[in-house]
Amino acid sequence: MTLDRRSFLKLAGASAGAAGLPLIGRAAELMPKTAKRVVVVGGGYGGTIAAKYVRMMDKSIEVVLIERNDHFVSCPFSNLYLGGLLTDLNTLTIKYDKLAANHGVKVVQAEVTGIDPAAKVVTTSKGTLSYDRLVLSPGIDFRLDEMKGYDAAAMEVMPHAWKAGPQTILLRKQLEAMKPGGNVIISIPLAPFRCPPGPYERASMVAMYLKQHKPGSKVIILDANPDIVSKKGLFLKGWKKHYDGLIDYRAAKKVTEVDTGKMAVMIEGLEEVQGAVINIIPPQKAGHIAHVAGLVGADKKWCPVNPTTFESTLHKDIHVIGDSSIAGAMPKSGYSANSEAKVCATNIVALMNGKEITEMSAINTCYSFLSAKEAVSVTGVYKVNAEKQAIEAAAGSVGVSPDLSEVEAIYAESWLKNILTEMST
Ligand SMILES: Cc1cc2nc3c(=O)[nH]c(=O)nc-3n(C[C@H](O)[C@H](O)[C@H](O)COP(=O)(O)OP(=O)(O)OC[C@H]3O[C@@H](n4cnc5c(N)ncnc54)[C@H](O)[C@@H]3O)c2cc1C
Repeated sequence: MTLDRRSFLKLAGASAGAAGLPLIGRAAELMPKTAKRVVVVGGGYGGTIAAKYVRMMDKSIEVVLIERNDHFVSCPFSNLYLGGLLTDLNTLTIKYDKLAANHGVKVVQAEVTGIDPAAKVVTTSKGTLSYDRLVLSPGIDFRLDEMKGYDAAAMEVMPHAWKAGPQTILLRKQLEAMKPGGNVIISIPLAPFRCPPGPYERASMVAMYLKQHKPGSKVIILDANPDIVSKKGLFLKGWKKHYDGLIDYRAAKKVTEVDTGKMAVMIEGLEEVQGAVINIIPPQKAGHIAHVAGLVGADKKWCPVNPTTFESTLHKDIHVIGDSSIAGAMPKSGYSANSEAKVCATNIVALMNGKEITEMSAINTCYSFLSAKEAVSVTGVYKVNAEKQAIEAAAGSVGVSPDLSEVEAIYAESWLKNILTEMST
């Protein structure tokens, strides 16, 4: 059998990654590995902290942070922008230059397109990188196959704004352009999703905006869940106090189809609801790269991990943190991602130095704004149940703030400032 040149090149390119051989078609190595190396994918809430903490704890480890964008926009507080409390997204935006200057993190702006767990090589749009340990914190992607008609083009008509940036700006522009009297639909997917209280905070902020600028308009919440997922009592109290009659909450209404032409959503083929502005928060799954790399579990959505080290249970030497991971009772939040990153970094450094790993202990607090000046919060401390090998809330640690409060709003602002500073300096 003879092989012509074209077929040979195709074959060589296809098998190069799998065999880990320097064959024709394999992308060039970006940086030759000369020391112990941790590669971190994703420069958001989890990735920045993992990269920084590995370097802070062991300067002999080279850390390469790969992020597709040259900046990161925080989802926390992006609902306040929608409500008109922020004029732009500048205060929610961080850069990576100080992580490089202050900690020696090597930042590469590129898209990670593949991972070869056997060869321990990451493929990016700019070349390959080998690693000793890999940390993935790629956030979320959407299960678009579960929502007919909701594709990239539909997102430009009915924004999700569930990844902060241009989508958030688009949704705000639509709210501003809307005629008074029109309805805003917010559709919420079945849990688990990124930021359990986030959709209800969004409804509050949008209602606040409508109350001020669009008389006669209201928010219709179509919630796929049987009830409000987080801080129910506090949201209901806040809505009664500030937005009575302005928020129409409908439980167990799962949006399964959208029609951008009609500006309508369909609920399981049974009911059609029209809106002047439609915010679709789609069902979610781990970031796409986690699926490509075979890190997603039997549920085909999220990544199973060892609850103490966050090492994947499917591939050795790859750790998954943040929204993409299955972190038991911990909610998918920025603060959880931050806590998980610290635990993961501590244990990666221990493992790379042949030391004992440290028990997992993590914290989460999520603030939500109900009005311009009042916020509420939920807090929890999390530990590993050794028998079940699962992360659980420490007994008695989970609680919500007693009431809507201006002090909580001050705490929230301080939290944001601190966490974004920690991520970027
Ligand atoms: C409206 C809203 C409000 C929220 N409010 C709060 C709040 O008040 N408090 C709170 O704690 N949490 C909040 N959250 C949740 C929080 O934003 C997420 O839980 C957090 O961002 C998760 O961190 P992560 O590191 O997993 O992902 P992210 O922070 O999203 O970071 C992922 C990064 O990976 C990059 N990336 C992904 N794939 C690739 C690839 N293949 N190649 C290169 N780069 C890649 C992305 O560009 C991104 O920068 C909110 C979320 C929303 C939507």
